[in-house]
Amino acid sequence: MNTTTLTAPSPLGPSGSATGSPPGLAPPAQGPAAHAQAQAQAPQRRDYASLRIVPARYPARTAGTVLSLVLIAAVLSSVLGNPRWGWPVFAEWFFAEPVLVGLGRTLLLTALGALAGFSIGTGLALARVSHSPLLRALSWTFVWVFRSIPLIVLLLLLNNLGYLYETVWIGVPFTSIGFAEWSTTQLITPFMAAFLGLTLNQAAYSAEIIRGGILSVDQGQLEAAAALGLPRRRQAFRIVLPQAMRSILPAAFSNLIGLAKGTSNVYILALPELFYTIQIIYRRNLEVIPLLMVATVWYLVILTVLSVVQAHVERHYARGALRQLPPTLLGRAGVWLRSRTAPAPRLRSPAPQAAAAAPPGAAWAQREHTGGQVDVHGVSKSYNGVKVLDQVSLQVPAGSVTVILGQSGSGKSTLLRSINHLERLDGGFIAIDGELIGYRQHGDTLYELKEKDILRRRVEVGMVFQNFNLFPHLSVLDNVAEGPLAVQGLPRADAEQRARELLARVGLAHKADAFPRQLSGGQQQRVAIARALALQPKVLLFDEPTSALDPELVKEVLDVIQELARSGTTLLIVTHEIGFAREVADTVVFMDQGRILESGPPGQVLQSPKHPRLRDFLAKVL
Ligand code: ADP
Ligand code: MG
Repeated sequence: MNTTTLTAPSPLGPSGSATGSPPGLAPPAQGPAAHAQAQAQAPQRRDYASLRIVPARYPARTAGTVLSLVLIAAVLSSVLGNPRWGWPVFAEWFFAEPVLVGLGRTLLLTALGALAGFSIGTGLALARVSHSPLLRALSWTFVWVFRSIPLIVLLLLLNNLGYLYETVWIGVPFTSIGFAEWSTTQLITPFMAAFLGLTLNQAAYSAEIIRGGILSVDQGQLEAAAALGLPRRRQAFRIVLPQAMRSILPAAFSNLIGLAKGTSNVYILALPELFYTIQIIYRRNLEVIPLLMVATVWYLVILTVLSVVQAHVERHYARGALRQLPPTLLGRAGVWLRSRTAPAPRLRSPAPQAAAAAPPGAAWAQREHTGGQVDVHGVSKSYNGVKVLDQVSLQVPAGSVTVILGQSGSGKSTLLRSINHLERLDGGFIAIDGELIGYRQHGDTLYELKEKDILRRRVEVGMVFQNFNLFPHLSVLDNVAEGPLAVQGLPRADAEQRARELLARVGLAHKADAFPRQLSGGQQQRVAIARALALQPKVLLFDEPTSALDPELVKEVLDVIQELARSGTTLLIVTHEIGFAREVADTVVFMDQGRILESGPPGQVLQSPKHPRLRDFLAKVL
């Protein structure tokens, strides 16, 4: 408080001043009075606070509104004015007990069908994108069969299952050992047949909807999750499915509404749900239209409720994808009401600037990390017969900083991805601290590791991507805490503690609760670095960490990396920032067409390049 009052006039006036003047004895040139005086002395500065804002007028919009109102009035007068609609009969039956019982049955069938259908559908969709050909085929066949059979046919088939099989039996197949047995006709009641039919139908359709959502999630998200070493299950349920939700939800709700109305098909089983009940009643009293309207209005009510729920669920899953959430229905109504009743808005004076963030990476050197030694030995890799890495060998001592230079397409990313085992090698090997990546060594034999073990091993290597690949649906804090939570099994409080500590180190403690899309590129990249560091990797790989950034943001990220260079972690950095390489690198490596053409200390490689291609390259980027 004291320092601020010494350097700037306090809005509280002199009573808070460090000069110690007693209240009420303020010199006239201070406090709010001085503010007004300054304004009076500067007539060219307008007092914006007194201006009133008039919202723009839109004549076409107004005309459209009037036209819609006329149309609505015409429809209402035709529906309410024509006595043949039979509204008194409608009123008599709308809340009648049999109708409500039928409605209850419809709702129950919808809820059960949706629950079971979407659960099975999720399993089918995951099976369809799994690595197992058998699972994929089974899932495909299920969807094929149950989307082909019309719902009514399926319902009748299930209802008549007793003709095919007299009993339902659980036991060991192809033996006479049985555990339980039921009579089919007793087990498959009309309600059971309706539930099964709706569920199977629903599962087939929702499987495709969910699969569509999964396919819509960016590939980079999977790589980022894999690079963190998250187990496959967690990748699916924590990273992929929540993001898929945005494209799943509209189709899924449409499908759910279809299911709610599709329950009317079960009238064929003489199951008295809403529609069948209505039919019974109008056959008796011959008031067909009013009773059909009873059903219609109830279906409308169901649909309206579902639409409201849909709006809220969609809003929930929009958190990570939008910078600003759309207002809720209630919120929107509130804004509209206030705009009608409140006085016209006025311009506000700009809010005071937020305090400047702490310089990024201020405290990196505080903690010692132990780096890993990376040995790349004769590594080769081809895509479609084209050699992308050609017998690459490289020794990276523990705790050192290596900068990899090279033209686009020279294989730099492929080399980094191989070190993190995101690529499978065609030849050669890579070891970290003597342990081979992707294999378990037993004597002279190498056993290729299963994906689960590779994921576990990957924890030793962190990776920072050019386009950040933060998880957009998780807060900044959750992004950083995810690795320690899922992979190291840290309790949430500890993981968050560690995440906050790391965020403070990259100068972003105040952004812990923000979502990635609310941050600048430089801030996002610093979060990505914190996320990679959260697992305390021995080796940290940077793939052009600053090339997606605006020039003025590059420095804040390079500063963080530079601080990191003194902390002991082994760093491999692909970058075009030659100045940075000169300052920070122990070794500079130049790659060209999948080979290392030159490597050595920056003074030598950058000052007196031997190879003409490197000279060419440096002339271009410097
Ligand atoms: P750099 O990072 O140096 O720009 P990359 O390692 O990304 O280069 O790519 C090296 C070469 O390999 C490029 O010619 C690129 O087109 C090719 N390549 C990379 N990934 C694939 C892939 N998955 N399939 C086919 N070609 C690829
Ligand atoms: Mg690249």
